Amino acid sequence: MIIIDGSEGEGGGQVVRNACALSLVTRQPFRITNARGKREKPGLMRQHVTAIEAACAIGGATCEGVAVGAGDFSFTPGKVVPGEYRFAVGTAGSTGLVLQTLLMPLLLADAPSRLVLEGGTHNMLAPPFEFVAKAFAPVLRRMGAQIELRLVRHGFYPRGGGRIEVDIVPGKLTPIDCIDRGALRSLSATALFAGLPFAIAERELATARQFLPQWPEDAFAARQLPEEQGPGNVLLLEAAFDHATEIVSGFGRLGVSAESLAKTAAHRMAGFLACDAFAGPYLADQLLLPFALAGGGSFTTVKPSRHALTACDVIERFTGQRWRFTQQADGCHLAAMR
Ligand code: ATP
Repeated sequence: MIIIDGSEGEGGGQVVRNACALSLVTRQPFRITNARGKREKPGLMRQHVTAIEAACAIGGATCEGVAVGAGDFSFTPGKVVPGEYRFAVGTAGSTGLVLQTLLMPLLLADAPSRLVLEGGTHNMLAPPFEFVAKAFAPVLRRMGAQIELRLVRHGFYPRGGGRIEVDIVPGKLTPIDCIDRGALRSLSATALFAGLPFAIAERELATARQFLPQWPEDAFAARQLPEEQGPGNVLLLEAAFDHATEIVSGFGRLGVSAESLAKTAAHRMAGFLACDAFAGPYLADQLLLPFALAGGGSFTTVKPSRHALTACDVIERFTGQRWRFTQQADGCHLAAMR
């Protein structure tokens, strides 16, 4: 039994999701103590419980101690059974994070699956749907994965009610090297909003324009969603290159002005555009698991985040493989399996 102290490193929910995925793929049981030990409110939250229960459902696994607030639980994997599954994350837990837990075991299974995930599609501190569809999934497709994603309905915090569908056809994953992102192809800034005044989107776009002065005028657009999908708002900044796409998001929330979130998002995007890295900080921590399960490969990224370094530790516990980040002359970091 692999024992993980969930308060080590980044000490958040990603440790839980990665451990479930790795356990299902490698068929090794694990136990986590102090789950989410570094969070202000430690222990499993509703969305982590859903992710673990979903992992149990697709993987014939059993778990003990899993409940909202629990710090200590164990997980014993069975055989992954591909098929059609529907999981509801409740309130507005992130569908993207549940997908993080289930995708690799189903991609490495022996028959196709369809997932219907209900909950939030655009949540703070989680990959929004566009990020999964445009930044993450294309890299996996280059490795040989067949994944199709559909956004059926948007879901924002706290109301949720979103729905995504994912078709997964398993196949062998081939290690790839993602060093060069290629030439810049297109830029876009989209302010999505539902059930909120149009002025919020306009203010976000005006601020983004101010801090991204080189972006063409037609890159900026507001998109109003049906009122019943709100209230909710997200600013999505997208830079598409020949071989990579980065999506920086700013989530509208009470207490943060439209100008402030747009300024932060624009600065983050400008920082990414100014370097030559293939993967931004979020994509980097999310690529580590599929690359490790493909048996290697490499990619360039910005300075590794604590999420990334912690993911490396969890991957090593299950596979014995170690990622190494080496700073390059241009300031980028090369992530490669040792
Ligand atoms: P906790 O509440 O413990 O922080 P969590 O389960 O919500 O837990 P994390 O452990 O922080 O989340 O993991 C968040 C995951 O979401 C990471 O894989 C990170 O890369 C991804 N993520 C967060 N924000 C974004 C974003 N704006 N765009 C893309 N991915 C994101």
